[in-house]
Amino acid sequence: MVTLKICQICLESNTLCEQCKEKLRKGIINQEEVDVSRAIHSLAKANPELKDVDIDYVADVGKLLVFAPPEHAKKLIGPGGRNVKALNDKIGRFVRIVPRPRSDKYLIKELLGNVPLMGIDVLYTESGQVFQVRVSKDHASRIRIKPKKFEEIMKKLTGKTVELVFE
Ligand SMILES: [Zn+2]
Repeated sequence: MVTLKICQICLESNTLCEQCKEKLRKGIINQEEVDVSRAIHSLAKANPELKDVDIDYVADVGKLLVFAPPEHAKKLIGPGGRNVKALNDKIGRFVRIVPRPRSDKYLIKELLGNVPLMGIDVLYTESGQVFQVRVSKDHASRIRIKPKKFEEIMKKLTGKTVELVFE
């Protein structure tokens, strides 16, 4: 089953139907997911390996991070990185395929890079649990991703409310 982010008709066209437009407007999907879905669909015509791939989420962090279930990520990367290279060329952006991390910890590591964490605290607020990821100020400059983007990606992929805190 293909879970690209837009319908078959919109995959083929340059415009979006009312339903897909509505998904984009409500933030259920983002523009990068539309672009990546179309590119994969288009590449799949010449490369059957890409016909049945799912993507979870696409985040624009300067480059495009494409999260996908591990077995699909493998296909998207392709032998020797062939498929991801084709995807780069098609979209004209640097694309990195990220296998859906096994745990929140791995995801945090993937997003923040190799920065030591001081801890992860759970706060209980009126609006629910908030996970504070604590990083030393000394390492702040090594983190490329914007805190807002990090928090947005964590929310999308884990459903959790996460805050990045420098102290
Ligand atoms: Zn559509």
